[in-house]
Amino acid sequence: MATSSTELEIVKQLFNTLSDDDKKSFLKSIKNKEKPEKKITFTKEIKECPYCKSTHFKKNGTRNNGKQSFFCLDCKKSFVASNNTILYGVKKDLSVWKKYIHCMIEKYSLRKTAEICGISLPTAFVWRHKILDALQEMQNKVKLNGIVEADETFLPISYKGHHKDFNFPRLAKKRGTSATLRGLSKEQVCISCAINHNGLSISKVSNLGKPKLVNLLNVLANKIAKNSIFVTDSFRAYLKVASDLDLNHIRIPRNKYTCGSFNIQTINNYHSKLKAMIVYNFKGVSTKYLNNYLVYHNFVNFAKENRKDKERILLKHILNNNCISKNINIANRLAVPLLVA
Ligand SMILES: [Zn+2]
Repeated sequence: MATSSTELEIVKQLFNTLSDDDKKSFLKSIKNKEKPEKKITFTKEIKECPYCKSTHFKKNGTRNNGKQSFFCLDCKKSFVASNNTILYGVKKDLSVWKKYIHCMIEKYSLRKTAEICGISLPTAFVWRHKILDALQEMQNKVKLNGIVEADETFLPISYKGHHKDFNFPRLAKKRGTSATLRGLSKEQVCISCAINHNGLSISKVSNLGKPKLVNLLNVLANKIAKNSIFVTDSFRAYLKVASDLDLNHIRIPRNKYTCGSFNIQTINNYHSKLKAMIVYNFKGVSTKYLNNYLVYHNFVNFAKENRKDKERILLKHILNNNCISKNINIANRLAVPLLVA
């Protein structure tokens, strides 16, 4: 076929321009992709006692449910492999969690998810945020490199799901006054975002209204590799971000869409998809959970792995990491989760 051989030729020619080291690492990366995916084992590797962190423990028979039990030689407590993971103390079979994660990757509503998994609506809600909290932790390790586009987007503050008698932290401003400056009023939540062309992304609620340098840095500092190509619009604060973080800055001039071969199309699409998910899949989300929906978006909509791989990655992650959120903490989050400088 003409097209595929043309494409092959382009790749061949580009390959020849690489240094010997780059050729090697290119070939290595191709090889890795061809390897069959390893099967996940559902036994968490025990490294330490969950109570006292001691590494002196021994196997201690199995419990009624067939789980391997361990006994700590220092604090004399016994524990099983799932202690401290999301699954601990939850009387649901692993197959229910698998179904649940499938529903998450498909972006099903809580109601539909609860139905498919045979769990209650409140349980479906708590599970969603426990899993997203875990995903948050995974995404905190993301570092962007290569061509990195950054831009912010805005959503109105939402108190969706708050109890009727909840005391809204209303801002000292009369409603409907001139303060509704398109997209930049203090009732607009600013989400600072950066993405690269390899499916990696970071985003967080950074402030209310127009962002300042410090707000952008709170989200972007330590998240972008030095010497990356940093593509932004003409917003002045990004000049300082680029110099603080040692990035090669490409600024798209005001009223232009491109600068040479660079543009901010990928991040614009990222913003549109985020809003589509929030509006169409979830019928709006409360601002207090917005950071969780941002990692949801990063993982489900923007990351390049296919759906099956995402299900595997997510399941493996929650089975192998300690659960950081307790039910009570999920409801008691700040109404507007701002990063503190
Ligand atoms: Zn111990």
